[in-house]
Amino acid sequence: MSSWRCLLHWLRAAGLWGIGGLWIAKRQLRRNGSIVVLALHRVLNDAELPRTNSLPGIVMRRETFDRLVAYIADRFRVVRTDDSFSGDRAHVRVALTFDDGWRDTGENALPVAGSHAVPFTVFVCPGLVGKNSPFWPERVVGMMKRTKGDAEAAIAKLKLCRPRDRELAIAELGANTEGEVESGGCDGTLSWQQLSLMRDRGVSIASHGCNHEILTVLEERGVEEEVQSSKRILEERLNQPCRVFAYPNGNHSPQVRRVLAAAGYERAFTTERGAWSRFSDPLAIPRINVYEGNVTGPNGRFSPLLFEYTVFWRSWRAGC
Ligand SMILES: [Zn+2]
Repeated sequence: MSSWRCLLHWLRAAGLWGIGGLWIAKRQLRRNGSIVVLALHRVLNDAELPRTNSLPGIVMRRETFDRLVAYIADRFRVVRTDDSFSGDRAHVRVALTFDDGWRDTGENALPVAGSHAVPFTVFVCPGLVGKNSPFWPERVVGMMKRTKGDAEAAIAKLKLCRPRDRELAIAELGANTEGEVESGGCDGTLSWQQLSLMRDRGVSIASHGCNHEILTVLEERGVEEEVQSSKRILEERLNQPCRVFAYPNGNHSPQVRRVLAAAGYERAFTTERGAWSRFSDPLAIPRINVYEGNVTGPNGRFSPLLFEYTVFWRSWRAGC
């Protein structure tokens, strides 16, 4: 986030805090028995940060995550996404989720969350487990690093393409650039062995589709393949039922939700802003995307004020 936007964001949050807006949002969320589900992707240490090809909107520094987890563990009730939904109105509740199954979720996020006894869920793509740089947006960023092109715009456009057209476009991009700048192994995914160890340590492991294809651009047969095979493989490899899903890129439709229900999923998370309440469609549960830029203040450190604005104010406002 640019520094003036960051300052504006901070001023807005401070103004709301001053008039009691954040307190009201938390009180209403608690009274409604809602759960605010945080969506994170990557937690990187200072050696990994300059090397990654991930866009800033999915990255958080380990130090920031450490402070965030300490803050939520101290003040709120952190619940699991696979627990039955109870109407607890005594606490402000949050749940922590990680998308994609990046290696850093096990190596950086787990030790931090574990030290505060904070549970979390990781949404994994079985077709991309244990690979070095399996996600195409990171490849596109790597290809455009030397030419300094607008990778974010290119990725947004490619997300609308069917898989085969997208791969052709990426191959063409590769042929027209001076080669991909590699991340030096820091954009890899968790192995099955790491996932089994995480399961044994109490991490909930759920599906994010087999190959992270955006379901709304696929034919029905392709949607079925992504949601059924990911469930089957996760259940076989981890020896436990898989009933929870997160939509890749957050995209879903009535047709996609029908396929999910038929495959036996009971809950699915989107990236639409809001809080999870007893009125939420269980196959369209909203989340709040959380990354370095929307929880750190103008001094670059974790800001409880901005965290509460991003998480509680925005989720409550979305439901009003
Ligand atoms: Zn994802």
